[in-house]
Amino acid sequence: MESGRRRSLKIEGAAYAITLDAQRRIVQGATVVCDGQRITHVGKAEELREIDADATIDAHGGVLLPAFVNGHMHVSYAHAVRGLFPDDMIGRERLREVFRLQSAMTEDEEFWTSLLAIIELMKSGTVTLVDPGSTKFLDACLQAYADAGCRVITGECVTDQQLDLALPVHSTEVALQRTTQFIRAYDGRLDGRVRAWAMPFSADTCSLDLLRGCKAVADAHGTWMTLHHTGGTTEALQQAGVLGANLLLAHAAGIDDSEVETIARGGASVVMCPSTTLKEASGLGRRKLPELLAQGVAVGLGADSANSSNYLDGVRLLNAAALGFKDGRQDVSYVPAEQALEMATLLGARAVGLGDEIGSIEVGKKADLVLFETRRAEWRSLLDPVNNLVYAADGRSVRCVIADGRLVVDGGQVLFADEAAVSVRVQAIGEALLARTGTRANRGRWPVI
Ligand SMILES: [Zn+2]
Repeated sequence: MESGRRRSLKIEGAAYAITLDAQRRIVQGATVVCDGQRITHVGKAEELREIDADATIDAHGGVLLPAFVNGHMHVSYAHAVRGLFPDDMIGRERLREVFRLQSAMTEDEEFWTSLLAIIELMKSGTVTLVDPGSTKFLDACLQAYADAGCRVITGECVTDQQLDLALPVHSTEVALQRTTQFIRAYDGRLDGRVRAWAMPFSADTCSLDLLRGCKAVADAHGTWMTLHHTGGTTEALQQAGVLGANLLLAHAAGIDDSEVETIARGGASVVMCPSTTLKEASGLGRRKLPELLAQGVAVGLGADSANSSNYLDGVRLLNAAALGFKDGRQDVSYVPAEQALEMATLLGARAVGLGDEIGSIEVGKKADLVLFETRRAEWRSLLDPVNNLVYAADGRSVRCVIADGRLVVDGGQVLFADEAAVSVRVQAIGEALLARTGTRANRGRWPVI
């Protein structure tokens, strides 16, 4: 099938559709029909046999899901230098290197690295991502988002404190002006697939005045705000009036039980990046994810970046979340497979303010869907599709992805770009970036001869 916007699309006869609807129904022998951007029918294949569509995907042998939502994804730059940092380069030391290299990126380089990240995300089932304000040349990258058809929440990362990181620093007033201008310029672009938020970097790189101001700008424009969050600052955010239903806290590392309650009372949501936390050995099991969920906080999952996590595969993220808490708490009752899947879909959508639009397969919602091919060794036997997805599969069994009603991945390949050609180009970009910034290309422990 060719790429492009269809008037209507029928996905027919899936072995299972995991709907994530209010009853969490799993429809066996399922057909889903979309007209334009939205889902119009969900049901048994035999009941929907007569419905015509402009195009039909034969989904036999497939498991159909709502596409994944990645709530914290620094989408630009990192593919250029993926794998550069050794295992033990973490925390501030890594961040300094990240921002030093990222600040040297050109517009053209950022376009290609963003496109490659989007290819990796979408071919493993993700349609929606939150880029926490790290894209420098948004106009160029908008073209990548347009080509790919993904759903992007973006913003300009602002700070007003002098730092040891190569982040742009502005006065509080200028940072707020830039935030306002960004939201006015970009919110709602690409048929509504782009949302623009206020994106102050973190409470330790921004004054309370800037955080408070960002919240006011978000409120005034009917949009949201995100920041990197660490324990000990929740109370200050609450007292400054920053906690609210349109705030997404990223990571929430080191928060304690009283901060969990404050976040829940304030109505904010949280995104956690289990694969980054595991890789940095920063104690995934100690993170308060189960407690936040128990308090009714919408918690989503993020991949962070190609050079901190380092993978963007939405299925591997589910697996990391489900396993990381079981092992970390030494209790198999933590984060069951179904709960992990909720965080990547329905809760993840809610956590980024799109719960009414995406995150489940229901009539009226936007058609963001992923179809897994299960006639593969790792999917058999197919007795419990949720269990197999979370514990046995990975993103390589994605067959089709539909974004906003448009087929963007078919046969496991993206239809909007030549993955091999983009990969080769990004390799050259990475090597050139290292050469001109005087960065040693290989930092591993073994000699490369
Ligand atoms: Zn981040």
